Amino acid sequence: MHIILLGPPGSGKGTQAQRIAEHYGIPHISTGHILREAVRSGSDLGRQVGATIAAGSLVSDTLITEIVRARLQEPDVASGALLDGFPRTVGQAGALDTIVPPDHLIVLLLQVVDEEIVRRMMRRRICQSCGITQTVPDSEAGEAGHCPRCGDPLVRREDDAPEIVRHRLRTYAALADPLIAFYASRPGFAAVDGLQPPENVTAALFGHVDRIRHSKESKGSK
Ligand code: ADP
Repeated sequence: MHIILLGPPGSGKGTQAQRIAEHYGIPHISTGHILREAVRSGSDLGRQVGATIAAGSLVSDTLITEIVRARLQEPDVASGALLDGFPRTVGQAGALDTIVPPDHLIVLLLQVVDEEIVRRMMRRRICQSCGITQTVPDSEAGEAGHCPRCGDPLVRREDDAPEIVRHRLRTYAALADPLIAFYASRPGFAAVDGLQPPENVTAALFGHVDRIRHSKESKGSK
């Protein structure tokens, strides 16, 4: 079972991805997290992509596809994975179809309007150690707060600055429609309203995964 979670930056994708991965016992593969880790560790990859990420632009399809291809060959993902942040373009989606059989994919779309996204991103913090995302209350200024999982400080992501957020949203808007059209007619596709409370979003996502799996299994057994 390979699950893809699509949705704009700030749609709650990271949080929901974490929950889906835990619930179904599959690894959570976030391309953003992989790239940020590379930047933080100062690896060759990190040096190559650092400026692109900081500007809120996308790294090349070829590079990100090779990273995902290599990751999906590791033993822990033999029975599936949750992909968060990939594919982002039709080119990446086409490449993914050559890595994972298209009928093994479950594609979930989180829908959220732009105004809500900008508001959410201003309150978003990330743990530098384990990469989880938290939303701080409106009243909380600065970089305060600690990670509920590992206790390390939470920080604002460099690319969550307002102008960069707007650039990322424009990039998403330009790429999302063709990407969604690429998947929308497949039986493994479902869209969920991301403006609902997080627990309702999670329940709706689990519901779609269970339904799609069930229908694939019953088709497979015929
Ligand atoms: P977002 O909150 O924008 O969804 P991510 O954590 O998924 O952020 O990604 C952060 C940055 O990493 C992106 O702005 C982009 O520079 C790079 N990146 C992540 N995934 C991809 C991808 N599939 N293709 C190209 N660039 C990517």
